[in-house]
Amino acid sequence: MIEVKGLTASFDDRQVLKNVSFTVNEKEIAVILGGSGSGKSTIFRHMLRLYDVPYKTIRIFDKDIADLNESEQLEFFMKLGVFYQNGALLNSLTVGENVALALEQHTSLPPDIIENIVRTKLELVHLGDAYQLFPSQLSGGMLKRAALARAIIMDPPLLFCDEPGAGLDPVSLASLDQLILNLRNLLGITVVMVTHEVSSILRIADKIIFLDDGVIAFKGTPEDALKSDIPVVKDFFSKGT
Ligand code: ATP
Ligand code: MG
Repeated sequence: MIEVKGLTASFDDRQVLKNVSFTVNEKEIAVILGGSGSGKSTIFRHMLRLYDVPYKTIRIFDKDIADLNESEQLEFFMKLGVFYQNGALLNSLTVGENVALALEQHTSLPPDIIENIVRTKLELVHLGDAYQLFPSQLSGGMLKRAALARAIIMDPPLLFCDEPGAGLDPVSLASLDQLILNLRNLLGITVVMVTHEVSSILRIADKIIFLDDGVIAFKGTPEDALKSDIPVVKDFFSKGT
């Protein structure tokens, strides 16, 4: 599903990613981990084509993303759900209107069908009653779930989540994790996620990609990460458990 091969990135002559390589298979939940500034969001931004991507470094959906023509780019973005860091909703719109935006912009479906799809997605994230509410009327956990519904509204096969659980209490975090697991288990969505939450990682990750200052320090399963002798990895998991 995703193949990153030798991705290197610099800002102002400073290398922030150094020869980063990893793969994510279909229906896997892969977690990108690492300290603040280690390059996690930069990887996401490259996979989202927000920067010029060097040829032959990133393949997604079996295509070199540096090589997509305009119509292929559109198709690419339609197949990608994104849950942004601090993924805020528009405050002037209701939850239902926020979640409907992409359908209104990218399809010509009639309003009643759009409403049905939005309501189904809100049910899926346990927000069936929030359709008419405004974001200011939701709790932190509900806001995250609404943002998740918005990210999956177009039924993307691939979902990127940048710190979806940031700021949540343990109970809300566990329920968000369960939803992400459901998306994978029930809908077959492949998930790439950045998180610092050890509890989340152990609950949902199939694969961990551990970045240390732009370099991959460890790749493997959570079980192997817990047994790792690599100092930064050991340090991370001993602090969090
Ligand atoms: P955090 O956990 O704090 O979100 P991160 O791992 O996501 O951190 P990145 O946002 O990928 O970190 O940033 C990696 C490094 O690249 C940082 O040192 C950051 O200052 C630098 N950086 C990121 N974007 C830019 C930019 N547009 N211009 C210059 N430097 C940047
Ligand atoms: Mg980041």
